[in-house]
This record gives sequence, structure tokens and C-alpha cells, in this order.
Amino acid sequence: MKNLGKILVLLLILSPLWAKIKVVCTIPTLSSIASEIGGDKVEVITLASGEKDPHYVEPRPSLVVHLRDADLLVKVGMDLDMWVDALVDASRNTKIFWGSPGYVDCSVGIKKLEVPKGRVSMKEGEIHVYGNPHYWLNPQNGEIIAKNILAGLLRVSPASDHAYFQARADRFISRLRDKMKQWRAKLSPYKGTKFVSYHRSFSYFAQFFDLDYFGTLEPKPGIPPSTAHIAELIRDMKREGVRLILLETYYPRKFADMVAKETDAKVVVVPTAVGATKEAHDYFSLFDTLTSLISNALKG
Ligand SMILES: [Zn+2]
Repeated sequence: MKNLGKILVLLLILSPLWAKIKVVCTIPTLSSIASEIGGDKVEVITLASGEKDPHYVEPRPSLVVHLRDADLLVKVGMDLDMWVDALVDASRNTKIFWGSPGYVDCSVGIKKLEVPKGRVSMKEGEIHVYGNPHYWLNPQNGEIIAKNILAGLLRVSPASDHAYFQARADRFISRLRDKMKQWRAKLSPYKGTKFVSYHRSFSYFAQFFDLDYFGTLEPKPGIPPSTAHIAELIRDMKREGVRLILLETYYPRKFADMVAKETDAKVVVVPTAVGATKEAHDYFSLFDTLTSLISNALKG
């Protein structure tokens, strides 16, 4: 028994040496990248499911528990995951408060699209008030996300771990660059293809793949489709010969089907984030899946 006591004391003294860094991410897309960089030295927890609309996550008290002892909070920013702010306050964990070493806003350094010129009224429920926050759908931005997470890990980890994280980040970025060539080649025959989607999720995706983002079923981000807007969209799509509708997994199908029927367009249900479908289980397979679904649909 005496020895057991000694062993326990020794374990307590040594435990910080192998304790994992606790990284809490708001959405699985960020968790995927954080795991790539953190490897065995981190424990990654995700607050929201990839199957749900990331804009609207119910801030359940049970989520606060994960934040209480987090070393790093990783968020999308640009108000997409503003639902986490109240949870962070409730956790009272100052390590992850805004501006603390454990706070990582992955939108830092992103070239933001669709940033409104004037003030946007949120009264009607319009979202994207700081610009379009779906930036992870340009894989080039995956590099920026990775660099933001790496910087956060370096801030909160012992110096002895820095080379490990740096090497893993380098490996992730070089693999991503190789994959980007493949993905681009897969969709290159369809450059300039006009498409519509339900929500304005694909601005960064269209930017990378040179697709022509024609419109959305929602009249504005966060505002549900209206009869007048759908009628106008159908008219415009017919005139311009738009034949592709990308439908995010978590939106209702009926409006897309209605438009498809009138325009002869094809509805393709696609994941827009990691965890949205079984196939899109990490950042790489997200783009593998997206590019395959779209190229198969356009092949005819
Ligand atoms: Zn959005």
C-alpha cells in the first residue's frame, strides 16, 4: 500500500507531461483540422453536429461543461457561431475569453466575401451581417484555418510540443495543396457553370472552382423562400439556362423540387461541412464528396 501511495504521488507530479490539451471547436469542420494538427497531444471536442444548420445551434447548458476546462476554443467567427459566446460567458473559463491565448477565431486572415457596405438590419432575421462566413468551402482557406489553429496551440502548449504541432501543420498543408490540384482538375470541365443553392453557402466554393453563383432560393441569407422570389428565380433560371441546384443537407427539399420541375434543373443534395453526411467525415473527404457529386451530376 505504501508503494501504491508513492506511485500515485509520482503520477500526480508527472501528469501535466502527458495531459492532453483540450481543444473545443464549434463545428466538426474545425475539429477535423484541429485533429490533423494536434494529433495525439490534443483532445478535440465538437459542440455542434455537422448535420444541422451551423447558424442556429441551441446553446444547451450541457455544452457549457465542455468549455469549463477547455484550453483552446476554436470558432468560425463572423457571427456564424455567435451562439457559442453565451456558453463561453457561462463557463467562466477566462482562458478562452475573447483576446485570451486560448481564443482562436479562424476567420482572422480570411479574404472575406460579400461584406455589406452599410449597416445591415438584423430585424427581419437576415444573417451574414459581417460578410459570408462559409469560408471553409474554399480549400485554400483551409490553410488559413490551419495556421490560426496552429498559432493557438503554440500559445497554450509547452515549448517541447511546438515542433510536433508545426510538423503536423506543415504535413496537413502540403497534403491539402496536392488534393486541391485533384479537386480543381475534377471540376475544371465545368468552369463557369451557373448554379443556384438554397442558402448562400457556396460563395467561397464557387470562387475556388470558377463556378457562376446564379442565385439562392432564400431571397436573403436567413430569410425563407417566398412565392414572389421563387417565381422570379424560376423566370431568371429559364432565361439563362441554369440547370444545377445545390441543396445543403439540412434544408427542406420542397422548394428545390418546385424550382427543378419548372426549370428542368437537377437537384443535388450536398454536404457543406464535415459531418453533414457519412462520406464527408473530414476536411479532405468533404471536398472529395462535393466534387464527385457535382461532377457526376454535370456529366449528365
Ligand atoms: Zn450562412
